[in-house]
Amino acid sequence: MHHVVIIGGSYGGLKALGVLAGKKGIKVTLVDRHPYHFLQTEGYDLIAGKVPFDSTVIGLRSLCAGFGDNIEFLHAVAKDVDFKGKRVIFEEGEPLSYDYLIIAAGAVTRFFESIEGLRNYSYGVKSLRGALKLKEFFEQELYKRLENASSAKETYSILVGGAGLSGVEIAAEMQDYFNRYYRSNSLACGKLKIHLVSGSETILKGLHPKIVKASTKRLLDLGVILHTGAHITSVDNKIAKLENGEEIPFDFMVFTGGIVASPFVQSLKAEHNKLGQLVVNSFLQIPGYEEVFAVGDAADLKDSSGRRLPPTAQTAEQSGVDAAENILALVEKRQMFVSNLKLRGLAIALGGTYAIIDAGKFRIYGFLAYLGKKAIEKSYKWPLRLKARDGFKRITACPKR
Ligand SMILES: Cc1cc2nc3c(=O)[nH]c(=O)nc-3n(C[C@H](O)[C@H](O)[C@H](O)COP(=O)(O)OP(=O)(O)OC[C@H]3O[C@@H](n4cnc5c(N)ncnc54)[C@H](O)[C@@H]3O)c2cc1C
Repeated sequence: MHHVVIIGGSYGGLKALGVLAGKKGIKVTLVDRHPYHFLQTEGYDLIAGKVPFDSTVIGLRSLCAGFGDNIEFLHAVAKDVDFKGKRVIFEEGEPLSYDYLIIAAGAVTRFFESIEGLRNYSYGVKSLRGALKLKEFFEQELYKRLENASSAKETYSILVGGAGLSGVEIAAEMQDYFNRYYRSNSLACGKLKIHLVSGSETILKGLHPKIVKASTKRLLDLGVILHTGAHITSVDNKIAKLENGEEIPFDFMVFTGGIVASPFVQSLKAEHNKLGQLVVNSFLQIPGYEEVFAVGDAADLKDSSGRRLPPTAQTAEQSGVDAAENILALVEKRQMFVSNLKLRGLAIALGGTYAIIDAGKFRIYGFLAYLGKKAIEKSYKWPLRLKARDGFKRITACPKR
């Protein structure tokens, strides 16, 4: 029996699990520090109160049980990997030996040390905790206005630092929420302001100019206040200072300006890029250890022309599948194949039922794109939900499992 350990039960790790589940002669242990998979790609809907909390998480224990008998879930925090001894070391508990290892431990928000106060006074949204914190703050503010007319007169500001995909989606979705709430309750939510700060001259740097233009228009129409070419230099508990001397007062700050590999990944004794991601070869193995693969945001992923790929769920998923297929190739003593990762397009949610899909050759704007984005999300989520439901039935039928 070949034992495969996967560290990280999210987009990359779960796709690998799907390939390995049920394969003869393979046993898999999925390890995660959380007992759930948080659907980051739907985080904006959670924050804006459009979906309930439980629709953005999938329980990993049930999911593993649903994948079959050769899959086991271990709720533990990986601390190190003894690559020579082929063991994963945990913060607590016994080390776990492996024949093959997939590191899919993802990334965390990059709170730039050069921006004074950023780490202390802003929140990331890559974790369920950060997303819930923002949602809570947001709803408390609306509640105060409902309860107390004098609060409704105060201006409340949320500052979103970083205008990449996640920053833009969150700003648009929250502003749309304010607007909806204002219309339905006739309260002074016009005094709630969302500032979106971009260090570049535009939002969504690097995307097609038509997408940048349409997204900018959409945000402005919703009422988001845009600050472009604006570098945040310091943050305290109430004010973000910009390089040009401007100050933006805020009550809550979200930072989405970049990522770094998760601390566990950064601490591994292996080769890393500047973001702490693991350097991998074209088979997704880490140099020097043919049985160790890295995927998703934890890895320095490139396309076939050697261009670095942005950290997205879709590249995490593709790389998870490829790493698992290459493990099967090694087990079956076949030739591994070169991973051919590519960005197949983008879907951006821009508040309410408006979205943009960039399919490379063409673009779709508005409600149709929104339906497309929802279809993409559902086609990822529902197969996992059904597996978790089967797994839950198995666990409850056999409580000792
Ligand atoms: C608000 C937002 C919106 C986004 N929208 C999109 C989108 O529309 N489309 C898109 O393609 N991408 C989107 N992304 C990016 C996408 O979510 C990430 O690229 C994706 O989550 C990466 O998946 P991953 O499996 O590599 O890692 P992650 O999703 O980061 O998961 C890593 C897993 O490893 C676990 N882990 C970490 N450290 C340890 C440890 N020491 N021990 C055990 N377990 C550990 C974590 O608990 C986690 O479950 C969005 C991101 C955000 C924040």
